[in-house]
Amino acid sequence: MATQDAILNEHVTCIRAADWIIGWNRETGQHDYQTGGDVVWKGDRLLQVGGHYDGPVATEIEGAGRLVMPGLINIHCHPSQTAIFRGYVDEFGNPMLFYSSRHPFRQNFIHDHAAQLASARYGLAELLSNGTTSIVDLSHAYPGWLDLLADSGLRAWAAPMFRSARWWTDTGHETKYDWAPDLGQSAFEEAQAVMQTAETHESGRLSALVSPAQVDTCTKELLVAAAELARKTGRPLHTHAAQSYPEFRGINRRLDMTPVEYLHQIGFLGPTTILGHAVFTDEHPWLNWPRRNDLALLAGTGTSVAHCPTVFARDGTMMHHLGAYMDAGVNIALGTDTHPQNLFEEMRLAETLARVAAGPRHTANTARVFHAATIGAAKLLGRDDIGRLAAGAKADLVVCDLREPNMRPLRDPLRNLIYSSGGRSVRDVWVDGQQVVAEGTVLTIDWDAAADALQAEQERTAASVPALDTISPLSLEMRTGAAPD
Ligand SMILES: [Zn+2]
Repeated sequence: MATQDAILNEHVTCIRAADWIIGWNRETGQHDYQTGGDVVWKGDRLLQVGGHYDGPVATEIEGAGRLVMPGLINIHCHPSQTAIFRGYVDEFGNPMLFYSSRHPFRQNFIHDHAAQLASARYGLAELLSNGTTSIVDLSHAYPGWLDLLADSGLRAWAAPMFRSARWWTDTGHETKYDWAPDLGQSAFEEAQAVMQTAETHESGRLSALVSPAQVDTCTKELLVAAAELARKTGRPLHTHAAQSYPEFRGINRRLDMTPVEYLHQIGFLGPTTILGHAVFTDEHPWLNWPRRNDLALLAGTGTSVAHCPTVFARDGTMMHHLGAYMDAGVNIALGTDTHPQNLFEEMRLAETLARVAAGPRHTANTARVFHAATIGAAKLLGRDDIGRLAAGAKADLVVCDLREPNMRPLRDPLRNLIYSSGGRSVRDVWVDGQQVVAEGTVLTIDWDAAADALQAEQERTAASVPALDTISPLSLEMRTGAAPD
C-alpha cells in the first residue's frame, strides 16, 4: 500500500494557461517572460514550465489573470528581532536613536523569549504573505526557533549568530565593546549544536549557515575558526562587515586596512562567503580612502554581498553604488534586515537608490535587482534548484493576481509588482510543492493572531523602557484635554 508521502509525491498540480510566467532561460542564464503557458509540478519538483502539459493532472488551477513567478529568497533577515520595533525605530536621524542597534534604547528595549517568539511568528507570516519562499534567518538562537521555522513552511537557513563581544554606544559616536571572558568560544560551540540540529530536522527544509555576528565584535581567531568550520562542513559563511562608518574607521585605525581587506587577509572571503552589507567599502565617497581595491577583492574571491537598502536609508546612508558592484562582478543577493520584511519593497528601494547614488552612471536595473533577489541568493547558497522556474527545480512558486488594481494597466508585470503593487497582488505561494498562502491568507501561521500577540509583547516590553516617549516620540503630537475642533 502506498504511503501518504508516496501519494503526495505522485500528486501532479497544474496552473493551466497562466497569462504570464517568469521562467528561467537556461541558455541565457536569465529570467524571461512567457505568456499563455502551464506551470506543472509533481511532489516538490517542477515538471514543466510554459507550453501545454498533456499528462494526467490531479489538481488544476485556473491561470487566467495570473502571473506565476519563482519564490523570492531573503538572504538576510532577523525575524526574531525586527517587527517588535515597528513604530519606534522607523525614523533614525533622531539623535536619541542614532547609531541603530547600539544605542541605549536598544540595550533597554530587551525582547525576552516570549517577545522574540511573537516577533518571529509575525515576521515569518509577513515574509510568506509577500512571496518569500526561502530565508536566511540570522538570530541569536532561542528556544523553539527551529520548530517555528519548520512549522512556517518556509525553506530556511538557520544562522545562529555568535560573537566575542557585546557592543553598545553611550555617545552615539563611538562603539564600545564588552569582551566575553572566553572571547565567544562557548557561543561558537552552542551555535554549532544549533546548526547540526537544523540540518537533521525532520522537516527536511532547514539548513545552516555559519555566522560570526560582526567583523568588529569577533576576534580574528573566532573569524578564522568560523571560516574553517564553513569550509569543513560546506556551509555558507556570513558576517556583518563594512556596514558603518565607525566600523570602517575602527578597523582602519587598528590595521591600516579596510574591513574587506582585513577579511581577505585572514582568509574569510570566498565563493560561499556573504557579507552583510559591504556598504562602506573603499568605493564609498564619504571615506576618502586612497585605494580602490575592495570590489575587485570581493569579485575576485567570489564573495557575495547581502544588500539591504531600507535599514541604511533609514540611517541616512546608502551604498555607492549598486551598479558599480554588479559591474565589477560582485554577486549580489537581497535581504530586508529590518521591517517591513517585504522583498518587493526592498527591490524598489535598491533600484531607486542605485540611480540616486550613481546619477548618470546608473547601471543597476529591474532585471538585475530581481536576479539578485532570486538567482544571486541561490548561487551563494549553493543551490541551482531554487530562485527559478525550470523543470527539475523545487516547486517554490508565487502566483500574483494581474487584475488587482495596483497591477494595472498591465504592460510589464514585474515592474508593476516592484514599483506599484509592492507585493499586494501576491495570492498563492507554494514551498516544496506545499501551499503555504492561499488567496492572500497565510495557511501555516494565523497572522492576525500573531499580530495581536506581537502588539501585547510590544506594549509589555515598552512599559519597561525608561523615558521611551522622549527617546522616540510619536510622529504627531497627541491632543489632550482640548475640545474637538
Ligand atoms: Zn543584519
